[in-house]
Amino acid sequence: MEEPARGPRKKTVVAVVGGGLVGSLNACFFAKRGFDVEVFEIREDIRQAKIVRGRSINLALSHRGRQALKHVGMEEKVVSQGIPMNARMIHSISGKQSPIPYGKKGQYILSVDRANLNKELLTAAEAYPNTKLNFDHKLQDWSAETGQMTFVRLDGSKEHIKADLIVGCDGAFSAVRKQFLRRSRFNYSQTYIPHGYMELTMLPINGEFAMKPNYLHIWPRNTFMMIALPNLDKTFTCTLFMPFDDFEKITTEDEVIKFFQEYFPDTIPLIGVDTLKRDYFRLPAQAMVSVKCSPHHINDKCVLMGDAAHAVVPFYGQGMNAGFEDCIVFDEIMNQFNEDLSAVLPEYSRVRVPDDHAIADLAMYNYIEMRAHVNSKWFLFRKQVDSILHFFMPKTIIPLYTMVTFTRTRYHKAVERWQWQNKVINHGLLISATGAAVGSAYLLIKNPPNINKLIIPAEKMWNRIVAFRTS
Ligand SMILES: Cc1cc2nc3c(=O)[nH]c(=O)nc-3n(C[C@H](O)[C@H](O)[C@H](O)COP(=O)(O)OP(=O)(O)OC[C@H]3O[C@@H](n4cnc5c(N)ncnc54)[C@H](O)[C@@H]3O)c2cc1C
Repeated sequence: MEEPARGPRKKTVVAVVGGGLVGSLNACFFAKRGFDVEVFEIREDIRQAKIVRGRSINLALSHRGRQALKHVGMEEKVVSQGIPMNARMIHSISGKQSPIPYGKKGQYILSVDRANLNKELLTAAEAYPNTKLNFDHKLQDWSAETGQMTFVRLDGSKEHIKADLIVGCDGAFSAVRKQFLRRSRFNYSQTYIPHGYMELTMLPINGEFAMKPNYLHIWPRNTFMMIALPNLDKTFTCTLFMPFDDFEKITTEDEVIKFFQEYFPDTIPLIGVDTLKRDYFRLPAQAMVSVKCSPHHINDKCVLMGDAAHAVVPFYGQGMNAGFEDCIVFDEIMNQFNEDLSAVLPEYSRVRVPDDHAIADLAMYNYIEMRAHVNSKWFLFRKQVDSILHFFMPKTIIPLYTMVTFTRTRYHKAVERWQWQNKVINHGLLISATGAAVGSAYLLIKNPPNINKLIIPAEKMWNRIVAFRTS
């Protein structure tokens, strides 16, 4: 573990509320600077818990998240426990599988285990001598004026604790954010999408992965879809995303099997009929919410990061990555303003809000792209064109997915650039198509073909039609 920064020990006490993915990583960032860090987490210590409740079992980690982990010396360890996914594997209803690479050769995203990553980050935070982890501490209220927080324990007792800086990393339904909502000029919006998600496990077959492991498998079915990410124990976690109305229509075990036979027939022998019947009814489908707010701070007292500031729907695989990047961006601004919190916090909101809003919008866009566009020939053609142009002009044309997933290009800049590229490429394609049509017409006029050779005798034509209809 890295040593905290040397020099006189600072008196500043930082309270990180939420010991989830972003909170535990953030604790490392603040501890590394030498602040006194206290993490407050509502749950018990997941490293000791028998059952870890929470959201998705595994997550896709990409460049932004990795950069943040690298900053606190955790990248190598986390990457060694992940499974590289080099491409999407699209499954058609007929069972045909077609890979669509994520980027250039050698570029991949990583499937990582959420609970394991959280445990590793808590252990890394705890290794700093200036960090204390407090479990079973539910933030109930806090004061933006004094920095005093009230925590409730499982036994009903209350604790009042003061901090110089409160960092709200307590997720999409943040208790820290509630204080922001009471203030004037705080913008807030929350949108539930009509889809829910349900996780199903695909066990190994004869001790091996049931499908090719180095892919993110997708079954796009226009209004709904299923995806599957590999786990180190050779299982796959399949996540079915579907409108709640459709989930509710399936009420019996036979209906589950009928539904899978119709839309995901290739998965039935892999998941198993009995497992499907059992797992489908194990837990109800979970909701997905998108949250946007601004600013992300109150004075020099409090800042929101991770899902507390920007919960996004999971279709770009960027929620955690964006939350991890929040930690680096804040850290960079701390350097820029010499840790003067009264300057750092407003600057953080100014810099980060447009990017967090952009990734929320992009995630919504990918919600449609993943389940519907990947079925379209035009979409696949455009992806090919983008890749070819990127190959020949790597600095001029960069596919959106590459900018978002494999670089730290600011999210809102990536969107602007993507819109500009789309205009240029679409114009280029239109001009090329028009040029080709005009050129062909010119050649036909200049060298008219022998019409007699083109005319197919009626009898031959009739035979072809009959052959086609009976084939
Ligand atoms: C189905 C699904 C798939 C996803 N896949 C991906 C993916 O592939 N890649 C990706 O980058 N992102 C993905 N995400 C998004 C990712 O899960 C989140 O962005 C990430 O968990 C955010 O981390 P966080 O620490 O901000 O919030 P959380 O993980 O929600 O952690 C918040 C923590 O705060 C604690 N807490 C809450 N209230 C209080 C309180 N009052 N007092 C004290 N503690 C409190 C909670 O117990 C929790 O530990 C996915 C999300 C879903 C739902």
